[in-house]
Amino acid sequence: MLNVVIFGAPGSGKGTQSELIEKKYGLVHLSTGDILRAEIAKGSEIGKLADGLISKGHFIPDDLMIRILNAHLDMYPTANGFIFDGFPRTLTQAEALDTMLKNRNLKVSLMLNIDVDTNELVKRLLNRGKTSGRSDDNLQTIHERIQVYETKTLPVIQFYDRQKKHHRIKGTGTMEEVFERICNEIDSVNR
Ligand code: ATP
Ligand code: MG
Repeated sequence: MLNVVIFGAPGSGKGTQSELIEKKYGLVHLSTGDILRAEIAKGSEIGKLADGLISKGHFIPDDLMIRILNAHLDMYPTANGFIFDGFPRTLTQAEALDTMLKNRNLKVSLMLNIDVDTNELVKRLLNRGKTSGRSDDNLQTIHERIQVYETKTLPVIQFYDRQKKHHRIKGTGTMEEVFERICNEIDSVNR
């Protein structure tokens, strides 16, 4: 089993890199952003709640997000491993993930922190906003998301630091260059 947490600020490239990891290592990709956007598209009760929060750049409450993730873990009983993309985003979620995995005799193998500076993040997200149709890819919401990332999500780094699972990845350069750095880190723990 290989369980990868892919971590980084909004626009750091978590989704792009997760898809490459998914293909190469045969893992199940769980993207909380994708799960929530699918709920919005369905018009479910969760979707209605998520819609308002996401467009403001705010988080879905921890207890709900944890329940959603737990349900998705149960959907893949024969998985070779998971990529957690967009989760954990808070310390509470990080602790909950450890518990959820422990209950299934699993654990996080490593956390990859894709490092991109704020100016570059804003540039990428504004650019994505031209075609993404996402309600959160506009300047005001981008600033709020980065602010929320810095206050609520950054502490998650220390959580994995303490477990010696934190691997920092330079997130600039081409998609392929970033992926190569990621593979080097994965292969260093997965021999
Ligand atoms: P990237 O561009 O690196 O793929 P992202 O920050 O653009 O990442 P998503 O992961 O797609 O965004 O998440 C979009 C939104 O969904 C978040 O801004 C937040 O409102 C909500 N969300 C996603 N994951 C979580 C979570 N773990 N806890 C709370 N809210 C979440
Ligand atoms: Mg994403």
